[in-house]
Amino acid sequence: MTAALHLADAGQRPVLLEAAKAAGGRARSWFDPACDEELDNGPHLLMGAYTHTLQLLDRLGTRGLLLEEKTPRFTFWDPALGWQSLRCPEWPAPWHLLHALFRFAPLSRPDCWRVMRLLPDLLRQAEHLEQQSVTQWLARHGQGGEICQRLWYPLCLATLNEPAASANAALFVRVLQRLFLSDRAAARPLLPRRPLSHLFANPARQAILAAGGEVRCQCRVQHLEWSGRTLQALHSSQGVWPRPRAVVIALPHTALARLLPAWAAERQITALHSAPIVSVHLRYPCAATLPVALLGLPLAASQWILDRNRLLPLEEQDPRAPGRFSAVLSGAYRECHWSAQHLIDSVHQDLTRLLPALASVRPAAARVVKEPRATFAAWPGCARYRPGSQTPWENVWLAGDWTATGLPATLEGACQSGREAAQKILDLLARAQ
Ligand SMILES: Cc1cc2nc3c(=O)[nH]c(=O)nc-3n(C[C@H](O)[C@H](O)[C@H](O)COP(=O)(O)OP(=O)(O)OC[C@H]3O[C@@H](n4cnc5c(N)ncnc54)[C@H](O)[C@@H]3O)c2cc1C
Repeated sequence: MTAALHLADAGQRPVLLEAAKAAGGRARSWFDPACDEELDNGPHLLMGAYTHTLQLLDRLGTRGLLLEEKTPRFTFWDPALGWQSLRCPEWPAPWHLLHALFRFAPLSRPDCWRVMRLLPDLLRQAEHLEQQSVTQWLARHGQGGEICQRLWYPLCLATLNEPAASANAALFVRVLQRLFLSDRAAARPLLPRRPLSHLFANPARQAILAAGGEVRCQCRVQHLEWSGRTLQALHSSQGVWPRPRAVVIALPHTALARLLPAWAAERQITALHSAPIVSVHLRYPCAATLPVALLGLPLAASQWILDRNRLLPLEEQDPRAPGRFSAVLSGAYRECHWSAQHLIDSVHQDLTRLLPALASVRPAAARVVKEPRATFAAWPGCARYRPGSQTPWENVWLAGDWTATGLPATLEGACQSGREAAQKILDLLARAQ
């Protein structure tokens, strides 16, 4: 959608072909009859460092639908230590983070000083860490038990959707660089106040249409017809699109491998694996609210819990409203195989520890969303399987969170790659004139 919008804004007339009933892909919401409300495919957290995503939201006029913290601030709860807050002051990076760490109660002073040992690697390019796991990298720099359990491992799981033992150290270092070394605003969490389609897909569709483009849903691309180095036609469930001038293929890597099996095998894209995320949405029959909108539970089944009522603008918040919560379980290789009931019970149990009044009730409605292919698996060595936007074909470019963005699978990677592919097309058209 970013690619189509960028092209439309430059005066082109893009046609977006989308297989699903509605656009938005993995970052969409839909009406769920069981919960009687619009739910996200999975709760999404944006960061201040998401420059391309924020640019898109500014363009769509929906940035105001984000709950934006002024400074980086995260609240955690753990059974042994209770409520903890990691709060950065308004100091320049990276001093804001160091200050926050020294005041983060679960960490000892020696643990905090040990963070300094990471600095040499954080201040240079991360390519040499491509084959290492995050656990190996942290161990090499003397990062011990507590700081790993309470900070690095949860941060790795949340940002790479992969447990530290199997996560790519180069990607993790790039995330840390972007979040903590560039600008103090970069590590601010930004939370959608409204269902995701209201931020992205719905306004993007409107903007593409208004700019003279087209959005065709339930239009699955089934076959590509080639003539030498040119894509000659796209065959879709709604007919054939002959002689396209330029095409951005922005499919997930698994869908691309089905459409272009020979090239995907040759380019080893099929070696890229997928990693799951499980989301559990609960609604209670009674009022219940957490002290913050986003809560980290590093040692619990629900890694992060969102209080959906707290996300609403202040004037819409009602302390008597039935409690509505969403839990995120990243890197959920194990949990993906749990039954929906077991997942609901686990999240309910986590919530009752925080809000004991809930122990005497059951959720009135629940929805479990298992996304076995939520992201590509950010394993060591995965960079080799991520192609750039350029392809061997003269009228085809690639985009998507799994392409060579240098980032883990995120909204930011998707937006960055979409814009880059569209810009390459515009540059080519400009040269041809
Ligand atoms: C549960 C969950 C939680 C997440 N949380 C976060 C988060 O907190 N922060 C964050 O930054 N990122 C998060 N992500 C990742 C983020 O959603 C993705 O990185 C991003 O949406 C990827 O966008 P994309 O355009 O590359 O791919 P997609 O969104 O997958 O878009 C690809 C589109 O191609 C369509 N398609 C597939 N095959 C065909 C075909 N043959 N013809 C036509 N169309 C086709 C699909 O229907 C889909 O709409 C999360 C993802 C999930 C699943």
